Amino acid sequence: MSKTLQPAASTSLGNGYAMLIDATRCIDCKGCLTSCKVAHQVPPGQSRNWIKVKDSPRQGRGPGGTRQTVFQPGGCMHCRTAPCLDACPTGATYRDDEGVVQVDRARCIGCGLCVKACPYDARFIHATLHVADKCDFCTSRREQGLQPACVDTCPTHARIFGPVEEVLNAWQQRLAAEGAKPLEGLEMVRPVNLETQPVLAYVNGTSQADWPPKAEQPAAMNVLAGAGKAVYGLGLLSLGAVCIMGINALRERGQEKRETEDQQGERHD
Ligand code: SF4
Ligand code: SF4
Ligand code: SF4
Repeated sequence: MSKTLQPAASTSLGNGYAMLIDATRCIDCKGCLTSCKVAHQVPPGQSRNWIKVKDSPRQGRGPGGTRQTVFQPGGCMHCRTAPCLDACPTGATYRDDEGVVQVDRARCIGCGLCVKACPYDARFIHATLHVADKCDFCTSRREQGLQPACVDTCPTHARIFGPVEEVLNAWQQRLAAEGAKPLEGLEMVRPVNLETQPVLAYVNGTSQADWPPKAEQPAAMNVLAGAGKAVYGLGLLSLGAVCIMGINALRERGQEKRETEDQQGERHD
């Protein structure tokens, strides 16, 4: 992945919705991941968004001013030029009137072509519904006049979401209120050699240039997924044990039958 810096007033975000993230505010509490999972009933071991963790050599951060672990929240970038949309053979993936990339579950055949096409690893096949799933900027919550769950939950207000002009203005106002210098630029994370035009952008140099290309499951979810495998493994072991017990019982019964027949044979002799 590479990143490009654009002026904050850039119109590259288009006219629809956008999400701005200040990654330096993220404390990796995972509130956004949890609230998203609850809001959208995302199955265990799967997630619509992520927090990437990286040991950063940035100057002036952390003890000694040289290194610190940094966190980078992310999710579907709702690309203005979306490879997932081009890959979908049924039209199930589409862009709505507000610029949000959506999945129509009724039209999705679960082929997974969009999952492979997404360079951000933002999609997955829902484990129980067997259709493509990803962030939709909380359409159902927005219809109720609410903010996306991840935005509402964040204790450090690392995210701002809304129409492009509104989020840019809101962030400038926040910086002014905090006495910080004005928003200088937006960073968009882009795959090398692929123009995606993301509308999820990072503010004031808080995006990692060399973040891992694949989204990683949060540790807590890995534990859950591991627990799921362990339970599955225990189930198989139990099933194996039951089979072995059954085979032994049949063997014992056969042995008893043979001994009875031998005894009866001896009596007849
Ligand atoms: S981040 Fe991936 S799933 Fe989201 S719009 Fe871009 S290509 Fe599609
Ligand atoms: S999994 Fe569904 S949304 Fe994705 S490409 Fe296939 S039909 Fe389209
Ligand atoms: S809720 Fe906010 S602070 Fe917590 S992990 Fe998410 S973005 Fe970071």
